[in-house]
Amino acid sequence: MKRYPMYVNGEFVASESGKWFPVYDPSTEEVIAEVADGNAADVDRGVAAARAAFDTGGWPQTTAVERGRVLLRLAEKIRQNTAALAELECRNSGKPIVEAEFDIADAAACFEYYGGLANKIMGHVNPVPDNAISLSMKEPVGVAGQIIPWNYPLLMAAWKLAPALAAGCCCVLKPAEQTPLTVLTLAEWLAEAGVPPGVVNIITGFGETAGAPIVAHPGVDKVAFTGSVEVGKRIMRSASDTLKRVTLELGGKSPNIFFADADFEAAVDGALFGVFINQGEVCSAGSRILVERSIYKKMVEAMSEKAKKIRLGPPLERATKMGPLVSKEQCERVIAYLEVGKREAKVAAGGGRAKQFGRGYYVEPTIFYDVDNGARIAREEIFGPVAAVIPFDNEAQAIRVANDTPYGLAAAVWSRDIFKAFRMVKALRVGVVWVNHMQPTFVEAPWGGYKQSGFGRELGPWGIEEYLETKQVHINLNEQPMGWY
Ligand code: NAP
Ligand code: MG
Repeated sequence: MKRYPMYVNGEFVASESGKWFPVYDPSTEEVIAEVADGNAADVDRGVAAARAAFDTGGWPQTTAVERGRVLLRLAEKIRQNTAALAELECRNSGKPIVEAEFDIADAAACFEYYGGLANKIMGHVNPVPDNAISLSMKEPVGVAGQIIPWNYPLLMAAWKLAPALAAGCCCVLKPAEQTPLTVLTLAEWLAEAGVPPGVVNIITGFGETAGAPIVAHPGVDKVAFTGSVEVGKRIMRSASDTLKRVTLELGGKSPNIFFADADFEAAVDGALFGVFINQGEVCSAGSRILVERSIYKKMVEAMSEKAKKIRLGPPLERATKMGPLVSKEQCERVIAYLEVGKREAKVAAGGGRAKQFGRGYYVEPTIFYDVDNGARIAREEIFGPVAAVIPFDNEAQAIRVANDTPYGLAAAVWSRDIFKAFRMVKALRVGVVWVNHMQPTFVEAPWGGYKQSGFGRELGPWGIEEYLETKQVHINLNEQPMGWY
């Protein structure tokens, strides 16, 4: 059994506690590795290393082009190792191998993008009404604490590390307890790529014991978190004690909205893809499917027919379209929601655990219909392969129902009428809107939520802004004393 230590100050180390915790393959329920069980003392070590790298180690003073080259080397290293990383991600998270390959490619693209952006961070000359030169300069925010979830393990690490390093920040990152293996593999290449000791520290462990101390630590300047709303709220409360900068990428209950004039075949595919990709373990999952009444019945039937044929199976098999859920705990959570759903609505497809495999946390792709938007399965994030289909009668009602949620991460609209589609784009209170598609995500475009889906934006130039402070500089050009006194 392979043991994975943590990565602190450029070295692989055990936890100060000497404890290890098991990591599983959710398709076999077997332990595949042991990982260092980090605690507050380990966080102290990681933060001390990051502080030293930032304050005296010279990372913020490296030239931007040098930092960019480091990131490009990491992108290249990820690309060269795509097959191994994808297989490890697939085994550890349960996601289908084909999707894992997309994720690894996206992680490489993220390092590449920020490698290119590092030397394009620019300040401004401010047109002040004075005989002076007024500048605004961009500087790194300092030490970033970064806490990520299990649904896109290496990709979420890339979204956090790449912009921070490009900006000149140093990082203390905690992967999810369920899926720490790929980012620990990345750690093996950091030194070779030119990341000095202390600039990136990976502290593995649990939320309460390794995550919370990062958020509370006075040596951390900023916290970037992706995960549940509940933990996001706790993080914000805890970070307020030291007034850390906080960015939160939280969950959603995103509406996927189908008008009668949409291409029907594309609509059926888009509805299923929107909610069943990655087993539905997606923050932007289109888990509320709003369908115009005139095509409602036909759409529920067509979706259900297709959903019943979705190929569940071992994640390493290339034909597999849905693997197991990430963990026993997540599987039990989702199954509990299926029971809630059966009391609240009608079942068109699925509705239980997929038992044909004998082992593994497989859940059937499930479609509930005639769902009231006030039902729990329409309001709460399930984070599994569960769709709630809701009929609507007109555009105004579609907008009302779509926005009637505490969340605001994403939405999609399907229609051939561009006027209607664009009216919807403007009316939806969300951070991401897709038209005639759902889920494609690009490093060049901003990602983040409205309302209780969090705040701050990742990706693109917006992503790097979150790791920068703005300094005002005023240069007086009058050579004489002011003559005020
Ligand atoms: P979570 O508890 O929000 O975990 C996300 C990350 O935060 C993990 O690394 C977690 O550590 C850490 N964490 C937990 N408690 C913490 C604390 N008090 N202080 C600092 N860090 C803490 O999510 P989860 O347990 O993995 O999943 C639960 C639910 O969250 C899901 O069913 C889903 O609804 C939602 N979720 C949303 C997203 C998203 O992208 N929006 C992603 C994952 C999950 P541990 O690994 O030890 O928990
Ligand atoms: Mg958790």
